[in-house]
Amino acid sequence: MEDTIVAISTSMGVGAISIIRMSGKNSIEIANKLFKGKNLEDVDSHTINYGYIINNNKIIDEVLISVMKSPKTYTKEDIVEINCHGGISTTNKILELLISNGARLATPGEFTKRAFLNGRIDLTKSEAVMDLIESKTESAREIAINSLQGKTFNMIENFRNKIKDLLSRIEVNIDYPEYYDIEVVTIDKIKEEISIMKEELNKIIEESKNIKLIKNGIDTLIIGRPNVGKSSILNKLLGEEKAIVTDIEGTTRDIVEGEIILNNIKLNIIDTAGIRDTKDKIEKIGVEKSLSLIDKADLIIVVLNGAEQLTDDDKNILRKVNKKNTIVVINKNDLEQKIEKEYLKEFNIVETTTTKENGIDKLKDKIIELFNLEQIEAKDYNYLSNARQIGLAKKALEKLEEVENGLKENLPIDMIEIDLKSCFDLLGEIIGKTYSDEIIDNLFEKFCVGK
Ligand code: GDP
Repeated sequence: MEDTIVAISTSMGVGAISIIRMSGKNSIEIANKLFKGKNLEDVDSHTINYGYIINNNKIIDEVLISVMKSPKTYTKEDIVEINCHGGISTTNKILELLISNGARLATPGEFTKRAFLNGRIDLTKSEAVMDLIESKTESAREIAINSLQGKTFNMIENFRNKIKDLLSRIEVNIDYPEYYDIEVVTIDKIKEEISIMKEELNKIIEESKNIKLIKNGIDTLIIGRPNVGKSSILNKLLGEEKAIVTDIEGTTRDIVEGEIILNNIKLNIIDTAGIRDTKDKIEKIGVEKSLSLIDKADLIIVVLNGAEQLTDDDKNILRKVNKKNTIVVINKNDLEQKIEKEYLKEFNIVETTTTKENGIDKLKDKIIELFNLEQIEAKDYNYLSNARQIGLAKKALEKLEEVENGLKENLPIDMIEIDLKSCFDLLGEIIGKTYSDEIIDNLFEKFCVGK
């Protein structure tokens, strides 16, 4: 971390202002070489300074430069932020000049990585930074900001303290059994404490399972044979004319995508090519593509035409889907109904029409019911916030189970201690108390450049 890193922190494109950020021990000196205004090496920390970026006596841009001196900065290093006029050429020109004067282009997430490695934030807060940037719904934002405020860290740290406390009491009892004033940790007492811890950790993991839904949304597939109303339903859900609706069979050949927010949870919807036995080559590819998406989706909406009897194509689709995550929509219920409902009795069914204003509200209600979305919304958002954290918590829970089994089997107490210590370390990995370079590199690679 000897070198000074630089990156454009705002998104690339035309905008009023762009921010170029530099961090490292030479950042003030490098900026000063290009700056016409106050001597940046003499200004107070945390000041904004007006002037020009100059190269070969030519003005490149009129700028405001923030100087923030170590240690009270994002990375704990000296940081300079140049607010220049937005636009690709000015921003890139200044970036180039900073690089030719000694800075190095930052890798994705490198500023946040430095904040972590310099001990300003733990791993859960680092991950929360990215989650906050990527959050698309109010609930995803709320979880990220809670984690950034340290809620996840505190939750894990409290848990580790309980384990640490138990470990030290066990050790004192082993090493100094003659000290009568120390509480004796009996096997029964350890069993009782482990059982409570297990319950608590299990609850944290269970509650965190909703995190994928909250962060990534529900991947939803609309499927059915041509002309049953799939595109009309998608359009109703999206509230716009996105898919082309015609009454010529096979119109939606390509996959159409869209997003809606339902009870603060994002639905990523894909409208597929109509499923039918076809000889048309291009349509056949679409049909195969649609069927291949069934296994990947969190929710499958099978659309049927209520005004017709079920066809072999309908039955074929119904055989391929998993009933648990499928909603069968009997559409066109404004027309005389001919569909054999008896055949569908094991499915979650809703009857809809796209011809009326609120004709598909029942579908929305069913989705909310199937995924317990109302319950998710009512929760206090204090979760583990990604698969990495949940995976480690699960391993830690397994260690507690091993402790419990060891106690049942009367294993020597030092073996029990080893499992308890592993549990403590696994929880430590969640917050980054212990980490490997590979894990850290992997984690920050997913960040955007400039953060
Ligand atoms: P897709 O091929 O499954 O995507 O079906 P479309 O959404 O393109 O609709 C096919 C035809 O059915 C169009 O003419 C729509 O206007 C019509 N349609 C869609 N939904 C309904 C409905 O609820 N009632 C009636 N009567 N017609 C509908």
